[in-house]
Amino acid sequence: MTKLIFEKTKEGTRTTNLTEEEVDFSFLSSKYLKDNDDTIMPEVTELEVMRHYKELSDKNFCIEKGFYPLGSCTMKYNPKINEALASLDNFANLHPLQDDEDCQGALELMYKLQEALKTISGMSAVSLMPAAGAHGELTGMMIIRKYFDVTGQKNRKNVIIPDSAHGTNPASAAMCGFNVVEIASDERGLVNLEELKKVLNENTAALMLTNPNTLGLFEEDILKISELVHAAGGLLYYDGANTNAIMGYTNPCLMGFDVFHMNLHKTFSTPHGGGGPGAGPVGVVEKLKDFLPVPTVGFDGNSYFRDYDHKHTIGKVKAFYGNFSVLVKAYSYILLNGNRLKEVSADAVLNANYMMNKLKTRFYLPHDRQCMHEFVLSGDWQKEKGANTLAMAKRLMDSNFHPPTIYFPHIVHEAIMIEPTESETKERLDDFIDIMFKIADEVDNGDKDILNHPLNAPVKRVDETYAARHLDLAYKKQPQYSVVG
Ligand SMILES: *Cc1c(COP(=O)(O)O)cnc(C)c1O
Repeated sequence: MTKLIFEKTKEGTRTTNLTEEEVDFSFLSSKYLKDNDDTIMPEVTELEVMRHYKELSDKNFCIEKGFYPLGSCTMKYNPKINEALASLDNFANLHPLQDDEDCQGALELMYKLQEALKTISGMSAVSLMPAAGAHGELTGMMIIRKYFDVTGQKNRKNVIIPDSAHGTNPASAAMCGFNVVEIASDERGLVNLEELKKVLNENTAALMLTNPNTLGLFEEDILKISELVHAAGGLLYYDGANTNAIMGYTNPCLMGFDVFHMNLHKTFSTPHGGGGPGAGPVGVVEKLKDFLPVPTVGFDGNSYFRDYDHKHTIGKVKAFYGNFSVLVKAYSYILLNGNRLKEVSADAVLNANYMMNKLKTRFYLPHDRQCMHEFVLSGDWQKEKGANTLAMAKRLMDSNFHPPTIYFPHIVHEAIMIEPTESETKERLDDFIDIMFKIADEVDNGDKDILNHPLNAPVKRVDETYAARHLDLAYKKQPQYSVVG
């Protein structure tokens, strides 16, 4: 097993060992030189440090190594040109407090990205400030709350959310002081109109909806849904974390939504996962324009400027103007696809339907209808034979595939949520289908190792409950817990 860097320590090891006679340290104030006996620092050479981290990074799975069908996460290929553009000196080293006239290029890029997102979403105005999808939801909910405050409807405290929703939806609504009202999906896996009617009333603030929903299914009654919510005086919030399925075909505005957020790090390619930087811009219809966080970026026909002129603004939701490098990458991806963003969506949907129709012959598909960019299988058939979804996901780790999202959404038993994205070739999709069939065979045949995977991964089976409940990431001289395997 890989040692921790601390365990590689050899006391006194240094790459360079300059003495006080050789270097005049007097320019450093003594506060930087204070000895802190409590701090444990590994003592290894620079070369060993490099090798240590290279070895760790080689163990990492990434999209450049293999297929990464993590449903709801849109692990598409991130074109390298995005990185090259985001690291251009004039972008990377720009100071956020520079005057408007000194950063026209950056402001122009942000303005044009706002415009592109307006076109894609149909909304009237967009703020690029939120730093992630969940942050976009929170921003959107704050806008909705303030709108009802300003219009004298403080009683509107209920936010309706279907049981298939991403966990961040109820969390964002609750963080904003709303009551979360959950409604059950119907047998189609869609919003149940009768259930919706029952909970709509004069206290309804909003309905939060993902469309296509987390089952990868399009809410075909969306126009009826938006009519009902609006008739009750509520607003509609669109969780567009993943807009991969609909670009150019429809948009949140046409569906009747009032507020939406979009994860640039999913739909428009930026490395994500592991908590890396993201961007969750929020867009609104005309009547909510004044509530957006400030500043947005404006253009007066001559030059670009930071626009603080939003009468009812909810204020700032992040330092400065958002995660600028992610904005550059997203804009780069949009330009890279020219006028063919619609094909991106078409390919993502085609890939998902191709896989779904092959895989449903061996895995139970609870909602057997055309899917959008992702679909959700159930591991129930395999579980009956002794191998649950977790076992199959661990089995996948012994092939060159990242497991799909599992046990989400909660409304599907033993859920296996697969999202291939548009960036994969048919050959890769077939490789994945083949390995899934092989796993189904192994389960059918009672393969002796089926519950013991991964056999080849750097870390074997861990006690996941223990790891989640006793998260302990600080090194101690005598490690209290060690990984099993
Ligand atoms: C990923 C996702 C989110 C949350 O986005 P983050 O950037 O991880 O905060 C919200 N809703 C849906 C449907 C998602 O897929």
